[in-house]
Amino acid sequence: MRGFFHRHGKFQPVPTDEDRLEQQIPEDLWVKCPRCQELLYSKELQNNDRVCPKCGYHFRLRARERIALLVGETFEEWDAHIYPEDPLGFVDGGGAYGAKLTQTEAKTGEVEALVTGRATLDGRPLALAVCDFEFLGASMGSVFGEKLVRAAERCAREGLPLLTISSSGGARMHEGLFSLMQMAKTVAAFARLGRARVPHLALLVDPCYGGVTASYATVADIILAEPGAQIGFAGPRIIEQITKQKLPDGFQTAEFLLEHGMIDAIVERSVMGSFIATLLDHYARSAGRMPRLDEPETETTIAHDASLLPIGVEVGT
Ligand SMILES: [Zn+2]
Repeated sequence: MRGFFHRHGKFQPVPTDEDRLEQQIPEDLWVKCPRCQELLYSKELQNNDRVCPKCGYHFRLRARERIALLVGETFEEWDAHIYPEDPLGFVDGGGAYGAKLTQTEAKTGEVEALVTGRATLDGRPLALAVCDFEFLGASMGSVFGEKLVRAAERCAREGLPLLTISSSGGARMHEGLFSLMQMAKTVAAFARLGRARVPHLALLVDPCYGGVTASYATVADIILAEPGAQIGFAGPRIIEQITKQKLPDGFQTAEFLLEHGMIDAIVERSVMGSFIATLLDHYARSAGRMPRLDEPETETTIAHDASLLPIGVEVGT
């Protein structure tokens, strides 16, 4: 009797026109560009590295998509076995942090918001630390920080240049003070990397906010950004509410920050690999001329040859 009221077997509802249409056109076949509103064929968008072919809008990428785009199959992951925990037993309106971690892991296929490892970029060895915004807004928790510090220390030991690709909402509030401490911990590790004379290249991608912008991501030797990326500490709405002032147009965009000297170059995704390769070549060439911090700098051992570095330029087509 229990199954009597359920529709089974031959009594299936007749599909409506809408249902038929849904079956014929998969949901993700077309994507609307948020900037120019153009309807884009997703395969075409994918083939164009997820950059709108009409207006150049850079869609967000997952961490592994970025890695594949830059270094292909050469990537060897580090510390993939470190899992975040819930040290505070944190519970908010959305539920327990522990449960949220399990759900996020199932949804994203990642165990943390940062992926680190070594690779080669057109034959040049480097290390990568890439944020995945899909994982709790790439918030910096204690495992995120630990993986990043391990990567920086490894790079310092091995003389391997480190490219960080950051996109984050900031600190992971579910881990409270443990999360905030990662700002100091990562910056200290990058200071040691600097003392070892190993370059840190930072690429800021949309959106990059909070404790990540305020720590390791902006203490790099070279800071790059993708066109149109939103970068800042607090969001514009919060700043407007606090200062009670209207913010200028384009505030917190990569272009605004380039104009105001916070970043060194805006680089389009299509030329990112070759741009980073050129930077690595410059650093490799000047490595022999770089003084250690405990040696006095002389005119002949200036670390950065300004003529070599493309400061304050927009690169791309
Ligand atoms: Zn567009």
